[in-house]
Amino acid sequence: MGRRKENITYPSTTFSASVREGSMGSGLDFASSLSGQDASGGVVEHYRPRVSYYMREQAGNFHYGKQHPMKPHRLTLTNHLVLNYGLHKYMDVYEPRRATEEEIREFHAEDYIDFLKRVTPDNQDQMRTCFSEFNIGDDCPIFDGMWDFCRIYSGASIEAARKLISGSADIAVNWMGGLHHAKKYEPSGFCYVNDIVLAILQLLRYYPRVLYVDIDIHHGDGVQEAFYTTDRVMTCSFHKYNGDFFPGTGAIDEMGSGLGKFFAINVPLQDGIDDRSYTQLFKTVMTAVMETFKPGAIVLQCGADSLGLDRLGVFNLSIAAHGECVRFMRRFGVPMMVIGGGGYTIRNVARCWTYETGIVCGTELPPDLPPTVYNDFFAPDFSLHPQLSGRVVNHNSRAYLNALTARILEQLRYLKGAPSVQMQEAPPDIQGFLEDQEGHDKDVHSDRNKDEKDDRASKREHIAEFYESDHDQDQQDGEQDEKSSGMPK
Ligand SMILES: [Zn+2]
Repeated sequence: MGRRKENITYPSTTFSASVREGSMGSGLDFASSLSGQDASGGVVEHYRPRVSYYMREQAGNFHYGKQHPMKPHRLTLTNHLVLNYGLHKYMDVYEPRRATEEEIREFHAEDYIDFLKRVTPDNQDQMRTCFSEFNIGDDCPIFDGMWDFCRIYSGASIEAARKLISGSADIAVNWMGGLHHAKKYEPSGFCYVNDIVLAILQLLRYYPRVLYVDIDIHHGDGVQEAFYTTDRVMTCSFHKYNGDFFPGTGAIDEMGSGLGKFFAINVPLQDGIDDRSYTQLFKTVMTAVMETFKPGAIVLQCGADSLGLDRLGVFNLSIAAHGECVRFMRRFGVPMMVIGGGGYTIRNVARCWTYETGIVCGTELPPDLPPTVYNDFFAPDFSLHPQLSGRVVNHNSRAYLNALTARILEQLRYLKGAPSVQMQEAPPDIQGFLEDQEGHDKDVHSDRNKDEKDDRASKREHIAEFYESDHDQDQQDGEQDEKSSGMPK
């Protein structure tokens, strides 16, 4: 874990400064054309997965700062739409526990964790000397409750992974997670703790091979870097790439190294990609990946900044096309974590993740949004599928996309023939996992015990009960909630 690759340099360009290019172009009404898309082999017909959904109300109350594009409030909007569409009837809804420091240490360096734990807006002036060491600045500011926020979204991803391992869910959804840029030693691109790496490390205790798929507009660099030299995790990222767009990595020739050679797949795209090109490319690549790699579990990062009209994005995707990627991966019937990520036009992030929650549940949502206390965000159309395409010219020519596809399929053929790659079932470390669990149970670590107690108390509560018992839950939460009670609402 935490292997650093040496051959990639990180340009100084910042996330917030990523610039849009191009002008208005033509868009496609993709939602109406979906039925014509064909699905590929390896799919499970009439799949009825058990779905777990992770939400914690406080997660939506954190603030990176007034001008900062990352708005955790998008999580509140999403949860309200999900609940008012009645999707909780199709899922087990959990209020997950926070990750412990020990769990976060499975990937992150101790001195970095120590810094995250200690720094606050009140003491940051005294700690300013550490800021350059830990990449603190405009993209990754110090904000009130930052460490608690990290523990909440990471705890949910870890719980989601364990849920899949236990076999009591087939799909686990955590829209709070997906912070794919965080590095072992530092934050990056609005991400402080890499919940995805932590979740994959859990999955690797049981599954011989884990596939990571990333449809955020930014390269999934933190996850790729963590697993760059292993053949047990394949990372596959679809993103804008021109060498300058944040984070500056994700070229097609970043393929992994050592044992991991060919196990990193990068699909670099240009501005303005439209629904049809994107989904066609996605399905072609993922079909080949699934056939070749045969993962035991999938982690699908659904960053919604690849939608058209995103505040930081430059693609033309509709919510229907974004969701089609989720639908396509679901049909393989492989245990899957579905997590969030970027997404900066928050009214559309909430629509997108709600639509995708419906997809994993296998239910069709009416296009008119249900009324919520946040109605004003969705005016004037109040629709699940607003028109998002057409702002940016599509710079991905057919020839470019064909060449890209050919290169990736060739890489997968190499992988198939590579002598180091044996697709036999690696003995899963389930015994180690169980022993570890037992060890945790006996652990006298107070945080851990408190969190587990909270967790047991909140598990399998129907969402109506969740809200009714919200006050009690807050009281039980003790210290951590006292800390976050000063949070702006
Ligand atoms: Zn992003």
